[in-house]
Amino acid sequence: MRRTRNQLKAALMRQFEAKVDDVLDWTEAHPNVKLADVQTYLLEVGTDLHTALSTEMIERPLRQPVLEAPDCEWCGQKKEYNGEARKRVMTRCGEIELEQGGYWCARCGCGTFPPG
Ligand SMILES: [Zn+2]
Repeated sequence: MRRTRNQLKAALMRQFEAKVDDVLDWTEAHPNVKLADVQTYLLEVGTDLHTALSTEMIERPLRQPVLEAPDCEWCGQKKEYNGEARKRVMTRCGEIELEQGGYWCARCGCGTFPPG
Protein backbone atom coordinates (compact mmCIF):
# COMPACT_ATOMS: atom_id res chain seq x y z
CA MET A 1 0.00 0.00 0.00
CA ARG A 2 1.33 3.43 -0.94
CA ARG A 3 1.97 5.75 1.99
CA THR A 4 1.76 9.50 2.24
CA ARG A 5 4.80 11.68 2.96
CA ASN A 6 3.68 12.11 6.58
CA GLN A 7 3.25 8.34 7.00
CA LEU A 8 6.73 7.77 5.57
CA LYS A 9 8.18 10.43 7.86
CA ALA A 10 6.48 8.88 10.90
CA ALA A 11 7.80 5.43 9.99
CA LEU A 12 11.35 6.78 9.53
CA MET A 13 11.17 8.78 12.77
CA ARG A 14 10.14 5.62 14.67
CA GLN A 15 13.17 3.81 13.23
CA PHE A 16 15.51 6.70 14.03
CA GLU A 17 14.15 7.05 17.56
CA ALA A 18 14.59 3.32 18.16
CA LYS A 19 18.15 3.56 16.83
CA VAL A 20 18.94 6.49 19.16
CA ASP A 21 17.66 4.40 22.08
CA ASP A 22 19.93 1.56 20.92
CA VAL A 23 22.92 3.92 20.83
CA LEU A 24 22.15 5.27 24.32
CA ASP A 25 21.70 1.73 25.70
CA TRP A 26 24.96 0.67 24.10
CA THR A 27 26.76 3.73 25.49
CA GLU A 28 25.51 3.02 29.02
CA ALA A 29 26.50 -0.64 28.72
CA HIS A 30 30.01 0.26 27.54
CA PRO A 31 31.30 3.02 29.87
CA ASN A 32 34.99 2.35 29.29
CA VAL A 33 34.90 1.53 25.61
CA LYS A 34 37.77 2.35 23.26
CA LEU A 35 37.40 4.92 20.51
CA ALA A 36 37.89 2.27 17.83
CA ASP A 37 34.99 0.22 19.25
CA VAL A 38 32.74 3.30 19.28
CA GLN A 39 33.60 3.95 15.65
CA THR A 40 32.91 0.34 14.67
CA TYR A 41 29.56 0.42 16.45
CA LEU A 42 28.57 3.76 14.89
CA LEU A 43 29.42 2.44 11.42
CA GLU A 44 26.87 -0.32 12.03
CA VAL A 45 24.32 2.26 13.19
CA GLY A 46 24.99 4.32 10.08
CA THR A 47 24.47 1.29 7.86
CA ASP A 48 21.13 0.57 9.53
CA LEU A 49 20.00 4.18 9.00
CA HIS A 50 21.25 4.11 5.42
CA THR A 51 19.22 0.97 4.76
CA ALA A 52 16.07 2.54 6.20
CA LEU A 53 16.49 5.71 4.12
CA SER A 54 17.51 3.85 0.97
CA THR A 55 14.48 1.62 1.13
CA GLU A 56 12.16 4.62 1.29
CA MET A 57 14.01 6.86 -1.18
CA ILE A 58 14.53 4.17 -3.81
CA GLU A 59 11.25 2.36 -3.37
CA ARG A 60 8.97 5.39 -3.16
CA PRO A 61 9.66 6.82 -6.65
CA LEU A 62 9.20 3.36 -8.13
CA ARG A 63 5.78 3.19 -6.51
CA GLN A 64 4.54 6.42 -8.06
CA PRO A 65 1.56 5.75 -10.30
CA VAL A 66 2.62 4.79 -13.79
CA LEU A 67 0.52 6.65 -16.31
CA GLU A 68 1.07 4.14 -19.08
CA ALA A 69 2.16 0.51 -19.00
CA PRO A 70 5.38 -0.22 -20.91
CA ASP A 71 5.38 -1.99 -24.27
CA CYS A 72 6.73 -5.54 -24.50
CA GLU A 73 10.36 -5.44 -25.64
CA TRP A 74 9.79 -8.64 -27.69
CA CYS A 75 6.46 -8.22 -29.48
CA GLY A 76 5.56 -4.58 -28.87
CA GLN A 77 2.20 -5.33 -27.22
CA LYS A 78 1.21 -3.16 -24.25
CA LYS A 79 2.07 -4.95 -21.00
CA GLU A 80 -0.45 -5.46 -18.20
CA TYR A 81 0.04 -4.49 -14.55
CA ASN A 82 0.91 -7.58 -12.56
CA GLY A 83 0.70 -6.28 -8.98
CA GLU A 84 3.49 -5.56 -6.52
CA ALA A 85 6.20 -7.96 -5.41
CA ARG A 86 9.19 -7.84 -3.09
CA LYS A 87 12.61 -7.60 -4.71
CA ARG A 88 16.06 -7.67 -3.07
CA VAL A 89 18.52 -5.06 -4.38
CA MET A 90 22.22 -4.69 -3.53
CA THR A 91 23.32 -1.13 -2.66
CA ARG A 92 26.76 0.25 -1.73
CA CYS A 93 25.88 -0.24 1.93
CA GLY A 94 24.27 -3.66 1.72
CA GLU A 95 21.18 -5.43 0.50
CA ILE A 96 17.74 -3.88 0.84
CA GLU A 97 14.28 -5.18 0.00
CA LEU A 98 11.96 -3.16 -2.20
CA GLU A 99 8.33 -3.49 -3.14
CA GLN A 100 7.80 -2.81 -6.82
CA GLY A 101 5.00 -3.00 -9.31
CA GLY A 102 5.55 -5.43 -12.17
CA TYR A 103 4.17 -5.76 -15.71
CA TRP A 104 3.79 -8.76 -17.95
CA CYS A 105 3.02 -9.42 -21.58
CA ALA A 106 -0.07 -11.59 -22.11
CA ARG A 107 1.22 -12.66 -25.53
CA CYS A 108 4.84 -13.59 -24.65
CA GLY A 109 4.40 -14.22 -20.95
CA CYS A 110 7.53 -12.23 -20.09
CA GLY A 111 7.52 -9.99 -17.04
CA THR A 112 9.19 -6.70 -16.23
CA PHE A 113 10.12 -4.88 -13.06
CA PRO A 114 11.16 -1.24 -13.15
CA PRO A 115 14.95 -0.87 -13.07
CA GLY A 116 16.40 -0.83 -9.61
ZN1 LIG B 1 5.26 -9.67 -25.75
